[in-house]
Amino acid sequence: MSVRRELLEQIEAGSDSMIQACRQLIQAYSGDPPGDTRKAAAVVMDYLTAHGVDARLAAGREELPNVVAVVKGENPGRRLVLNGHLDTFPVVDSHLWNVDPLGGEIVDGRIYGRGASDMKAGIALSMAVAVALNRMSNKLTGQFVFTAVGDEVGQGPWGADYLLDNVEEARGDAVLAAEPTSCDIMRFGERGSIFMEIETTGRSAHSAYAYQGSSAINTMMGVLAELQQLEVLPVDMPAEVLTEVEAARDRADAIWGKGATDALKRIGVNVGTLAGGTRLNMVPDQCRAGLSLRLPPGVPADGILESIKAIARNGGATVNIIQASGPTYSSPDHDIVRAVRGAAKEIRGSTPSLYIGLGANDTRLFRRRGIPAFTYGPTPNNASMPNEYVTIQDVVDVAKVYAIAAYDYLTA
Ligand SMILES: [Zn+2]
Repeated sequence: MSVRRELLEQIEAGSDSMIQACRQLIQAYSGDPPGDTRKAAAVVMDYLTAHGVDARLAAGREELPNVVAVVKGENPGRRLVLNGHLDTFPVVDSHLWNVDPLGGEIVDGRIYGRGASDMKAGIALSMAVAVALNRMSNKLTGQFVFTAVGDEVGQGPWGADYLLDNVEEARGDAVLAAEPTSCDIMRFGERGSIFMEIETTGRSAHSAYAYQGSSAINTMMGVLAELQQLEVLPVDMPAEVLTEVEAARDRADAIWGKGATDALKRIGVNVGTLAGGTRLNMVPDQCRAGLSLRLPPGVPADGILESIKAIARNGGATVNIIQASGPTYSSPDHDIVRAVRGAAKEIRGSTPSLYIGLGANDTRLFRRRGIPAFTYGPTPNNASMPNEYVTIQDVVDVAKVYAIAAYDYLTA
């Protein structure tokens, strides 16, 4: 029997225990805040060690342990890292769920629960891939590494960043993440983001004598209108990105809603919070707004920051940048992309399109260090919403795709 055939049979044979592990991961609540991932990390450690995979913890903070599992091939070669996060969005609306959000219940071929989509199913299937490859390690070249980290949802420093700074095995020749993308989409990059607060001040007065005052809200409205104009700035998206994004337009719009691709190609400006004034018949002397911007490939953060500061300065506002990170992408021509798309075609019968993530995940941290990183995973269903679920079919299929793609990439 071929090694690839044997790997697929390993995944099939282990699928019940993989699904069971996914349920246990959902039961090991790790919502952020507070994002304590000790219970979830323990499930991962138990599963891997029970199946003979060499795994250890690497923690910068006691409540945020990261798991590092290493499968060594017979001969030296490439290193492929499969990275996933253990923390999830919190449960804030359990009354809107039809099932226990922490039950990991299975109904009609679906696994329900907080984090089922994002991304405890991705963790479970990554573990199954590690186990299958470990059983076949004498047929492997190079190294397969699985890392399960915390501190992703809150974008803190104790997860993937910590591993990249402290654990050599976390730095692969290529990185994959089983974040939910739908089995028809593989992400090779993501938008950047800028989070900021803007403040304006004025001079209060009775509204009957408004000419004696100066309205902080009027000043703010002028600044916000200018900032909104950033959305119509022309974007010079690199040709290799634009080609893939346009080719994926129909699929992506079907998954993320009509308009997703148009939104991806321009700067996104969202005024998320706005507060000011004291009484409706007084001229307001202060106003505050909170904004998030999204930056497509081709729009570096530095240039936009300069524009934002100029708009604030000219409009009489002060701006506090909370965080700024530029867009990142890896070459859509990378070997691991070919390996994953080829394996997906074999398993699912259709080749995933390549796309840029509208939101961000940990892959950007690898790209920033020059490590090519890509996302491919099960279809998200109600991710971070009530009744979140993932289909068992997707989880088994993605596990098979990764097992084959990892073998092909490492032995090429
Ligand atoms: Zn995620």
